[in-house]
Amino acid sequence: MKIGITGGIGSGKSTVCRIFEVLGIPVYYADDRAKWLMSNDEKLVGSIIDLFGENAYSQPGNILNRAFIADIVFNDKEKLSALNALVHPAVWQDGESWNEVHKNAPYTLKEAALLFESGGHHLMDKMITVFTPKETRIERVMKRDECTKEEVLARMGKQMPDEEKKEMADFVIYNDGEHSLIQQVLTLHQAFVKQAFTKDTNKG
Ligand code: ATP
Repeated sequence: MKIGITGGIGSGKSTVCRIFEVLGIPVYYADDRAKWLMSNDEKLVGSIIDLFGENAYSQPGNILNRAFIADIVFNDKEKLSALNALVHPAVWQDGESWNEVHKNAPYTLKEAALLFESGGHHLMDKMITVFTPKETRIERVMKRDECTKEEVLARMGKQMPDEEKKEMADFVIYNDGEHSLIQQVLTLHQAFVKQAFTKDTNKG
């Protein structure tokens, strides 16, 4: 079973995933992996240079020039789509290889901030969204990233509203300080393991 986990910026996706990892569940951090592939996957690096020019990487060391790319795609939707069309298949392929390595796990998790927005949820068996009130997310991200409220709001503006994510998800984890995070993860974990076990038994 492939479970997708998403949620708005600062909702606590990574925090929740770390609890699943403690339970022995493999987690694929798609956004971190995408960043890694953009600097280390030769074919992808070549395509990014074709799209943005040599300035996309600082020399020497082939370090991705994030600020340069971000500046371009922020105001150019076509370039953003073209970049996504390069990165998404590369991450998908990488994720498939990763799944193969973890095929004996009862289930795996794929964590990504824009899993609904990118349509990636269609490739998952179930979807979880982590919900945290907006004000709490703003406070947490300002503290974590040492940035301004305006910067957090700008990043939030590019994401699907929480209410839509909650409607589209199969499960919601509330990270609002009122519900126990560990208890919610444990309940889901037990249900997923049971489902995986039932599937295996039915296969004979
Ligand atoms: P992003 O979308 O930006 O990658 P995220 O959804 O993965 O963020 P986290 O990085 O897990 O979110 O959490 C955001 C910040 O809030 C982190 O600094 C984290 O330590 C903190 N945080 C998360 N959950 C809680 C909680 N229940 N109580 C206190 N702090 C929390």
